[in-house]
Amino acid sequence: MFFDEGQRVAVLTAQPLGRPLDYLAPAGGCHQGAYVEVPLGPRKVLGVVWGEGAGDFDIAKLRAVIRVLDAPPMREEMQSFLTRAADYTLTPMPAMLRLATRAPGLGLPPSMRRIYRRGEGLPERMTDARRRVIETLENYGGLAFTLKELAEMSGVSTGVVKGLVENGAVREEESPRDLPFPRLDADHAGKRLAEDQDAAAARLREGAAARRYGTTLLRGVTGSGKTEVYLEAVAETLRQGRQALVLLPEIALTSEFLTRVEARFGARPAEWHSGATMTERRRIWRMVAEGNAQFVVGARSALFLPFQDLGLIVVDEEHDTSYKQEEGVLYNARDMAVLRASICDAQVVLASATPSLESWANAEAGKYTRLELTSRFGEAVMPEMRSVDMRTESLPSNRWISDVLQNAVRARVERGEQALLFLNRRGYAPVTICRACGHQIGCDHCDARMVEHRFQNRLVCHQCGESKAKPERCPSCEAEDKLAAVGPGVERMAEEATALFPEARIATLSSDLFGSARALKQRIEEIAAGGADVIIGTQIVAKGHNFPNLTLVGVIDADLGLQGSDLRAAERTFQLMRQVAGRAGRGARQGTAMLQTYQPEHAVIRAILSGDEEAFWRAEAAERQQAGMPPYGRMAGIILSASDVQQVFDFGSELARRDGPLRRIGAQVFGPAPAPIARIRGRHRVRLLVKAAKGAPLQAALTAWLAQFKLPGDVRLAVDIDPQSF
Ligand code: ADP
Ligand code: ZN
Repeated sequence: MFFDEGQRVAVLTAQPLGRPLDYLAPAGGCHQGAYVEVPLGPRKVLGVVWGEGAGDFDIAKLRAVIRVLDAPPMREEMQSFLTRAADYTLTPMPAMLRLATRAPGLGLPPSMRRIYRRGEGLPERMTDARRRVIETLENYGGLAFTLKELAEMSGVSTGVVKGLVENGAVREEESPRDLPFPRLDADHAGKRLAEDQDAAAARLREGAAARRYGTTLLRGVTGSGKTEVYLEAVAETLRQGRQALVLLPEIALTSEFLTRVEARFGARPAEWHSGATMTERRRIWRMVAEGNAQFVVGARSALFLPFQDLGLIVVDEEHDTSYKQEEGVLYNARDMAVLRASICDAQVVLASATPSLESWANAEAGKYTRLELTSRFGEAVMPEMRSVDMRTESLPSNRWISDVLQNAVRARVERGEQALLFLNRRGYAPVTICRACGHQIGCDHCDARMVEHRFQNRLVCHQCGESKAKPERCPSCEAEDKLAAVGPGVERMAEEATALFPEARIATLSSDLFGSARALKQRIEEIAAGGADVIIGTQIVAKGHNFPNLTLVGVIDADLGLQGSDLRAAERTFQLMRQVAGRAGRGARQGTAMLQTYQPEHAVIRAILSGDEEAFWRAEAAERQQAGMPPYGRMAGIILSASDVQQVFDFGSELARRDGPLRRIGAQVFGPAPAPIARIRGRHRVRLLVKAAKGAPLQAALTAWLAQFKLPGDVRLAVDIDPQSF
């Protein structure tokens, strides 16, 4: 739709107003979906022309749109996606819009469109600062940056960059108008697929060729070659002239994936993630909108990119909890992918070795097509699974690696193979306790214990990131030299492993031990190439990376995730343990996974060992169904926070008392109870849980319910539809 100058238009702004406001179309008119700048009070803000103005505000008094920004207009599809996503997650529209306009510099003045890239020459005089600039440019393989970005990323002043321009080592260019991405060739180099892969790929190709909505759950054991299979769906999508998006949980660690894409299509996809530079994001945003980026791999926020013709969304490792955004707009990228695809007639592929119970149930119910890969690709076979009964292992205190596991590690190291010791806990020790008075050192701002990080020589709060030096004296009883580290973290495991295997090269992989995602990625590549014998790692090693020479996985504490009352604990532990174990034996030799546990007869541990996944899910499903819990019932969390603990509890109780609108749909309220994170950055948090039957109009009831209240004091409220823990 086009609006002539002076016509009434509704503009949705990214400011927290809730609904579109009326303005007059600017000189030259504007299209629906145009990105515009409008006056709002004394300010100028970014907005989108949402449609025809509908208000009855006196047209003579309306203010006019200031200007139309130089960006491709938002497509109607995107407008409906944002509207429906907002309705589903009960998010105010402006917050939703912010997700879609994160293209930085949408309205950048032309003067800022000067970019810098690597030139031919080398400077006559090389300094440290100059070297850093050149390294930044070379590390980013040909990308260009603005002056400020390049200087910041290299940790130098802009003067250093300008100096390099003078002697030709850096090239300055005018207005790139953003370079298109290299074309991908769907038929560049197809891999020969195994029989079961081929059958699955054929089904996915059919889906992509049909150009309509459909979701497929691609379940394949670790190492079965799911990636190769869904890349065939990408290929068909490209042949159809449509765009493809692959979401990955650890986008920072994707170099292996990118290499595989390049091998298959002859060029790399666009990479969208928080580590990307502003220039790069701006480029992707525009290229995606103009159809000049055919294939994007990204973090969950890539779902809000302005695709021109999106034909396929792959959610890889679809069970991964990082798909749920837990701050700002609370959404699950897996569910939003399905919503977005249904609006734009696209296919969704949910890939996992250990699907979420939600997706499993949808496949059972016939809503999703189910494809299975039941064996590893090529020679590789599934690892042998064993438990180590820790009740019969009499380990001295402060030791966590059992004799059985030790011997197994030693045997691998002697054979020149790699072993992984897995412990899902960062730092040195989770608790620092005073041996004189029993005091445990906690965070000053949260309800969390401080975790000792010995490499940094600090105590760190894993909730808010606050850190402090380890005190000499107990802060409570002032006793000297009595503070003791209790329990293991990966750093402590590395210490134990160094003592046990002095000949081995030991690598510790934990996100906090690396300054940047790039450094971590580089280390992972070194290790994959044989640069370590024993790897000690947290869950970052569980995610999809291939260590071909790794034949042993030892899980230090398989019971860790089973503690606590979370109903999803079983599902989570099962997924994580199967994923970690799946790192073993992906090459020619069979792998072994050893789970150290104090409860070898626990149903979940037994299911992990037996590998009878179908039985596990059936049992889990039956339990949830019985309890009316998701995915067989609906849940929402209401998180209240305030600086005053009494106030937040009182308000929570009031919400629970006046629950008429919820009762009318048969829903129940539980709580208020301390939220899973009960205090963070000085704010107290309580949670109410609302539980409803599967088909109940939960969002409408929640809206009516919450409309009854005004937030007192500094109380803040967030609605969490489909919470991760319950
Ligand atoms: P998954 O994601 O299912 O764990 P991957 O897609 O990572 O499995 O595949 C496991 C390994 O097998 C990778 O190294 C991959 O390159 C290889 N592979 C899978 N399928 C093929 C194929 N058809 N031809 C050659 N190599 C393959
Ligand atoms: Zn804290």
